[in-house]
Parts: sequence; structure tokens; C-alpha cells
Amino acid sequence: MTERIEVLKTDITTLAVDAIVNAANCSLLGGGGVDGAIHRAAGPELLSECHLLGGCPTGQAKLTKGYRLPATYVIHTVGPVWNGGENGERELLASCYRSCFALAHEHGLRSLAFPAISCGVYRFPIGLAVEIAVREIVSELTAGDTVKKVIFACFGDEIYGAYLRAVQAIR
Ligand code: ADP
Repeated sequence: MTERIEVLKTDITTLAVDAIVNAANCSLLGGGGVDGAIHRAAGPELLSECHLLGGCPTGQAKLTKGYRLPATYVIHTVGPVWNGGENGERELLASCYRSCFALAHEHGLRSLAFPAISCGVYRFPIGLAVEIAVREIVSELTAGDTVKKVIFACFGDEIYGAYLRAVQAIR
């Protein structure tokens, strides 16, 4: 299992995988953080395609092409804003990972890279978000073998350390 999961301290826009995941907002029309970085690297064609999608509810995901990115596709998912934890935040974050995998199966994608969804301006507690991310990825990788490889693309030492510890603890 752990050989199918890699933790990298890197800019997700540099990864040549079948799909990188974007931590988008409901409009899918761009934003700051990883969303802004992905749109800058992909070029304006990405925004044009996003305009056709009609937004995306929290916890769900939609797929576009990757345009100028080294990744073939972008899976845009909308993580929950952390509002104290009593508003379904955990379930919605888990649903993001499941929705991304559903699209990966549908499109036969073999390699995916995820940013730390909701861990930036959406303020999800990092330890909890990492626990949910790793649990969901392990469960999806165990359930099917379409996706051969998952990369956690970490920006910053805190998130990188949290993912490394969580992945090392998988048995
Ligand atoms: P959210 O709104 O879901 O919280 P953010 O983009 O604000 O999304 O942050 C999500 C995570 O992505 C944060 O840990 C942030 O540091 C990280 N991040 C920002 N830019 C990049 C990038 N280019 N590659 C990978 N991770 C990034």
C-alpha cells in the first residue's frame, strides 16, 4: 500500500501525473492559493472550460483538461470551510476524496496528485484533514486498482511533516 502513496514537498503544478486535484471554490472560476497557481500554470483555456461547468457543490468534483500543465487533467473539488466542526466538515472533506476517485475510475486515470484540500484559507485543522485524506486514499486504493499511484503534494513543512507521519503509520 505505502508504495502506491508518495509524499512530496512540491508545487503541484509541476507534476506530470494523469490528474492533479485543485482545491477550488464553488464557482470554479479561480481563486487564490493552489487554485490560482493551477490557473496560472494551465493558461486561460482552463478558465474558459471552467465557465462551462456551472460551478460545483462542496464535497463534489468536476474534471477538465490540463491545458499547459504537465498533468493531462485537473479534477476540481470544493473542500468545506472549517466552521468549528459541527457543520459536516469531516464528511464533506471525505466526500471530496471519494468524488475525485469516482472521476478517476470513470476516466481510467492511473496517477493522481492531491494538495491539502481545505488546509489553506478554508482553515481545516491540519492534523484532522491529513487523517481524513490518508484514510480515504487508503480505502480507495484498497477497493480498486485503476489508480496505481497517489501523490500528496505538500506546500510547507507543517503539512509535509503531517503527511509523512500519517503515511508512515499506515499498516
Ligand atoms: P483551501 O481554500 O481549500 O483551503 P488553499 O489553496 O488555500 O485551499 O490551500 C490548500 C493547500 O494548498 C494549502 O496547504 C496551501 O499551502 C497549499 N498550496 C498552495 N499552493 C500550492 C501549490 N502550488 N502546490 C501545492 N500546494 C499548494
